[in-house]
Amino acid sequence: MRKKIFNNMCLLALVTILLSSLLITFVYYGNSDARMKAEVREEARYIRGAVELSGKDYLETVKNTPNRITLIDTDGTVLFDNQADPAAMENHSDRQEVKQAVTAGAGEATRMSGTLSEKKFYYAIKLENGQILRIASETASVFAAVLSMLPWIIGIAVLVAVITVLFSNFLTKKIVTPINRLDLNHPADNVVYDELSPLLSKINRQNEVIDQQIRSLREKQEEFTSITENMSEGFLVLDKNTDILSYNTSALRLLGADAAPAESHESALALNRSAGFRSAVDAALSGSRSEQLVRQGGRCCQVMANPVLREGEVEGAVVVILDITEREERDNLRREFTANVSHELKTPLTSISGFAEIIQNGIVKPEDIPRFAGNIYVESQRLISLVDDILNLSRLDEADVQLEREDFDLAALARDVAGRLKDSAKKNGVVITVIGDKTMINGVKSIVDEMLYNLLDNAVKYNKKNGRVTVTIENDQNGPTLAVTDTGIGIPQSDVDRVFERFYRVDKSHSKEVGGTGLGLSIVKHGAAFHNAKVSLESTEGKGTTVRLAFPN
Ligand code: ADP
Repeated sequence: MRKKIFNNMCLLALVTILLSSLLITFVYYGNSDARMKAEVREEARYIRGAVELSGKDYLETVKNTPNRITLIDTDGTVLFDNQADPAAMENHSDRQEVKQAVTAGAGEATRMSGTLSEKKFYYAIKLENGQILRIASETASVFAAVLSMLPWIIGIAVLVAVITVLFSNFLTKKIVTPINRLDLNHPADNVVYDELSPLLSKINRQNEVIDQQIRSLREKQEEFTSITENMSEGFLVLDKNTDILSYNTSALRLLGADAAPAESHESALALNRSAGFRSAVDAALSGSRSEQLVRQGGRCCQVMANPVLREGEVEGAVVVILDITEREERDNLRREFTANVSHELKTPLTSISGFAEIIQNGIVKPEDIPRFAGNIYVESQRLISLVDDILNLSRLDEADVQLEREDFDLAALARDVAGRLKDSAKKNGVVITVIGDKTMINGVKSIVDEMLYNLLDNAVKYNKKNGRVTVTIENDQNGPTLAVTDTGIGIPQSDVDRVFERFYRVDKSHSKEVGGTGLGLSIVKHGAAFHNAKVSLESTEGKGTTVRLAFPN
């Protein structure tokens, strides 16, 4: 801008200098030319008077004047010339000014000299005797006048150029400084030249439009972020160079990324270095959908990568990551459970089939048949309780199980269960005592009944001869609790954490002996979870066990 102002000012100054110099030269030249001509005419008239009065000899007295004086005879012969020898001069009758003077009494002409810089003005006047008196004056030509002005013009031009540089600097600064200080975020608050007002109000309007657009973009972005941030699934949007365009924190967590990607584009492959993740991303960026399993920090994730296409070209990929650890664990448990169930069912069935086969073959003596039938009965009872337990467990496994909840007295239910177990307790000399007042809870009575039955059954089964089982029901500010304490064989510390697993038994043969299935405490655990109750177990080997159920308030 400074350069432009300088150039324009320079051009303007130069044109002005040139035009004004030429104008002055021409006006000045015109004036002095006219004055010179008038003087020549005046001088001619004066000399004519003197010559007519004193004759040709008068000319000898004015011989040394700077102007050239020539006296020409009527036939054109030069009679006198103060600057040349008249005899050597040619006939002047054809000179323009002479011809005019002959016919009109006076004539004048201007002719250039040998060089362009000089010109001559001739004025001829007719004497009374017909002779012609001619005065010639030499002056500088216009060209010479212009030429003589040239150094001045150049000098002034240089001076003007210097002034222009200084002035243009000053002017540019003066114009530019307020523009530089403009607050374009608040254009209406600026006080500058009136000429800028339309521009500022236009910027103001555009700022409002941009603000509006930014607001709506931000709202959309926040909406999108809050949707993706609340997803437990990981979500990544990549461009075709695998650079991350968008992500949620679940994606970083599931992929085990140490830190959030930097502001500048970072490759998604830096988030997880596993071959599975890379192959899913590569496949999506090659245009095909891919699903891969990625194991990371003890968790298992399913990575689903889909290509993003625009006009048939792959523009990037959208990657969704699901944590399927629990699903995998459930599947494993189910597989394990099925294998265990088959095994547990097969054992009594094999015994039953064996006993039946022996009887069928007639190998058994008639007096032994009741004993064999008794064995078959015991094994089928085991089979029945096993199937019952499996059914109970799978009933609890159904997440959407629609069982009717009701309010009932926990203490009354415990007494009822204790009553049902009285006979088997008696057989072992075990005494069951239920302590506690009416304590109402809300739940599925049949499930709680099953839980209490299993706990009391265990307390009796794994008790010592003449042992005791105490059921204590309490209700404090934390909610109703039920504790089953026995004075039995106890559980080794190393097994305490595992007894709630399906089919886990501390002593398999003892459990079998007392009719255990290995599913009792699993049923208790699942029943407690169904009622949002907490189960805890404390045991001292050889002394006894306490299992506590804490129901929510
Ligand atoms: P089971 O049908 O074999 O009793 P449970 O799941 O009820 O199966 O119990 C798992 C194992 O925990 C039992 O086999 C037994 O070894 C141990 N157990 C459970 N309750 C008691 C208890 N009150 N005293 C000692 N051991 C117990």
